[in-house]
Amino acid sequence: MDHFQYQHGELHAEDVPLSRIADQVGSPVYVYSAATLTRHFTLFRQALDWTDHLVCFAVKSNSNLAVLKLMGDLGAGMDVVSGGEYLRAKAAGVPGDRIVFSGVGKTEAEMALAIRGGIRQFNVESEPEMRVLSRVAHGLGATVPIAIRVNPDVDAKTHEKIATGKSENKFGIPIARARDVYAEAATLPGLQVVGVDVHIGSQLTDLEPFRAAYLKVAELTRALREDGHVITRLDLGGGLGIPYRRDNNAPPLPLEYGQVIRDTVGDLGCEIEIEPGRNIVGNAGVLLSQVIYVKNGEDRDFLIVDAAMNDLLRPAMYGAHHDIVPVVEPAVAAAVQSFDVVGPVCESGDTFQKGAQLPDMAAGDLVAFRSAGAYGAVMASEYNSRPLVPEVLVSGDHFAVIRARPTFEEMLARDSIPEWL
Ligand SMILES: *Cc1c(COP(=O)(O)O)cnc(C)c1O
Repeated sequence: MDHFQYQHGELHAEDVPLSRIADQVGSPVYVYSAATLTRHFTLFRQALDWTDHLVCFAVKSNSNLAVLKLMGDLGAGMDVVSGGEYLRAKAAGVPGDRIVFSGVGKTEAEMALAIRGGIRQFNVESEPEMRVLSRVAHGLGATVPIAIRVNPDVDAKTHEKIATGKSENKFGIPIARARDVYAEAATLPGLQVVGVDVHIGSQLTDLEPFRAAYLKVAELTRALREDGHVITRLDLGGGLGIPYRRDNNAPPLPLEYGQVIRDTVGDLGCEIEIEPGRNIVGNAGVLLSQVIYVKNGEDRDFLIVDAAMNDLLRPAMYGAHHDIVPVVEPAVAAAVQSFDVVGPVCESGDTFQKGAQLPDMAAGDLVAFRSAGAYGAVMASEYNSRPLVPEVLVSGDHFAVIRARPTFEEMLARDSIPEWL
């Protein structure tokens, strides 16, 4: 459920008509609903209320400071994958002891940054990383809690670019070698083994891969305890999918996901961490855009809109689908037409949807790309020198710009021409 509904013939974000945002902020613009964010976070918390837990929001899915502040104030932890994300979480007021640091390529500088600023745990992804972390932590006179990310070799049955739990992926250490790696970890100064970490991919629409992976984690946890390790935390990653099409079978609910966790690892007495991103913020956001031209082609009609692949990369990058809906509610019996919805960028890849079914559209009309809150704004660029897309947060009947659109002057001012040119 989300809070983007038609009211009085017009699509609203909560109680704010999207046309009001377009009037005041211009387009394209991302619009997020605070009520939807809150609701989705709360569902995860409820799904784990049978145990000690921390829901760590995956910052990479949407790292706007206002979104992180909202999450943090609700009690969320943060899962970060870079020094920049760590600093964003801190800037949003999240204490270090609620931040976990994941990622395959943490640098020494990033490690030191997080150790100095305070960290709940590092999720270690390789032996070389583990040795460097030991040296950095020891050098700072610190002992840092770690979980080791294991790769359970489970097929997440998702898009190949976002599957992470197969042995061919770059993530984690093979679960078969885990006992040896934990044995080494226990000997290294500056590290305190506290848990096991796993994350098998994103946009999973079936619970079985989770179940298979978590059963392997449970088995490993028992083995590690036999080896003498004190395992008190399990970080089970993120990845629960969302419905990108209104007309489709909905993926499992957080509550059902929580039940899988309970069934598989619930008897181990561990604190449970999860790292959902997309499921919290995906359907809490839309990308609002305006039609520039309706172009009638030979055998198809194009809707050329002012959003482009630089603003929302997912269709070009993953072949992803986003429902595109008119902001003015179509009449019940309105005839629909087929449009190829495209952006202005000079690449054929800048196509959002072929054959979108929409009512009669004209230049100046507004459309909304649904389910755009996750991996939308964070992947935006200024390709074609289009200023970075702004973001707006709605709560009830008011809204705020939470990232302003840069002016052309600001965009140009970031470059410099060397004096010898
Ligand atoms: C991307 C990522 C997540 C979040 O995945 P979602 O599909 O957005 O829930 C969580 N943990 C790690 C380690 C990730 O890389």
